[in-house]
Amino acid sequence: MALAQRGNRPIALRPPRSAYLHIPFCHRRCFYCDFPVVPLGDRASAEPGAPGSRSMEVYLEQIKGEIRRAPGGPPLSTVYIGGGTPSLLSVEQIAGLLAELASHYGLSEGAEVSLELDPASFDQDRLFGYLQAGVNRVSLGGQSFDDAVLERLGRRHRRADLLEAAQWLQSAERCGSLRSWSLDLIQSLPGAQLEQWTAQLEQAIALSPPHLSIYDLILEPGTVFERREARGELALPEDDLSADLMELTARSLAAAGYGHYEISNYAKPGHASRHNRVYWSGAGWWGFGMGATAAPWGQRQARPRTREGYAHWLQQDHDLPPAPMPFDERVMVGLRRREGVALVALASACGVSSRELAELEQRWQGFVERGLLLQEGTRWRLSDPEGLALSNAVLRELLEWCSQRAEDCQSSP
Ligand code: SF4
Repeated sequence: MALAQRGNRPIALRPPRSAYLHIPFCHRRCFYCDFPVVPLGDRASAEPGAPGSRSMEVYLEQIKGEIRRAPGGPPLSTVYIGGGTPSLLSVEQIAGLLAELASHYGLSEGAEVSLELDPASFDQDRLFGYLQAGVNRVSLGGQSFDDAVLERLGRRHRRADLLEAAQWLQSAERCGSLRSWSLDLIQSLPGAQLEQWTAQLEQAIALSPPHLSIYDLILEPGTVFERREARGELALPEDDLSADLMELTARSLAAAGYGHYEISNYAKPGHASRHNRVYWSGAGWWGFGMGATAAPWGQRQARPRTREGYAHWLQQDHDLPPAPMPFDERVMVGLRRREGVALVALASACGVSSRELAELEQRWQGFVERGLLLQEGTRWRLSDPEGLALSNAVLRELLEWCSQRAEDCQSSP
């Protein structure tokens, strides 16, 4: 336990049981991506002497050093190795990272160990090697089944690579060496139409992944897509069409047996990602690596997003006082989940007064009347699929309430 202060009141914070490791290497930067990545070229590989291999080795020593210097804690029950393209790393390198975590924290019996894989960056032998090293859940970055779309996104893989990778995952799942896997797809792409998206969903359902993550494309500053949009070359779907696409997704996947457990995530029974649920529950997690966000006690701490910045950051002292996740962020992440948030209990735990809470509830009344937001006792949640599809409007209102509250706090004597 760690102690933090809320007002005059000491509160006890539980140490995390989850860890995120960021592997920033990719072959190339996709046109929509603003993640902290290091593009190494299409020929990059972890093979000794191959382009990028030395860079990867140096980075792995840095991230292992960061783990070794981190405060201790209880054994981990979830680990997520994301990126970037972690499947650029060899089996030995992934095993080395897991061994470092196991030696520092230990891994609980039955821990969920997830690894992100990109089609065309690994083969079946490497997949089985990762599984033998301790990985038991895979997230496959498919994005689209359409070659022309993949080309327009700047992706390196093609539909055939995605189908082949999915076959390997299905076979690993059948033989029991893989506990679960997820397929990522992007909806709300430029030029999206309901018929074309229906065909994408049908192909996804036909592969029967136990879990699907379906994201809206967001135009991020500094990306190729943002520049194209500024030149008028990219027509993203209007909000109404985006909401229709999401409703179509939710209805199609519900009919195929998937539960909609978070805005962008769908799972067959027993296959919701335990690691992702930690992010949305307000519990903390360790985070390691360039650009990784950690929130060991709830409040977020981001690492620098460049190799140089991260190397410099590692030389410094980072003993931040434990601080819990603030109320607004707890509500924000909580509302992403199907079960929503117990607002009154959360407000009381976070020191939000009943007057302030009443103001927020008042601001949300319009969404309640439109059936987007449901109040069930003291619990608030977005309706499914309409509320989840239009969650941005509700969350925007929350943000406005937060900034108003912050101004009020600053101006009060
Ligand atoms: S592979 Fe993923 S992390 Fe890498 S550039 Fe593309 S979207 Fe970004």
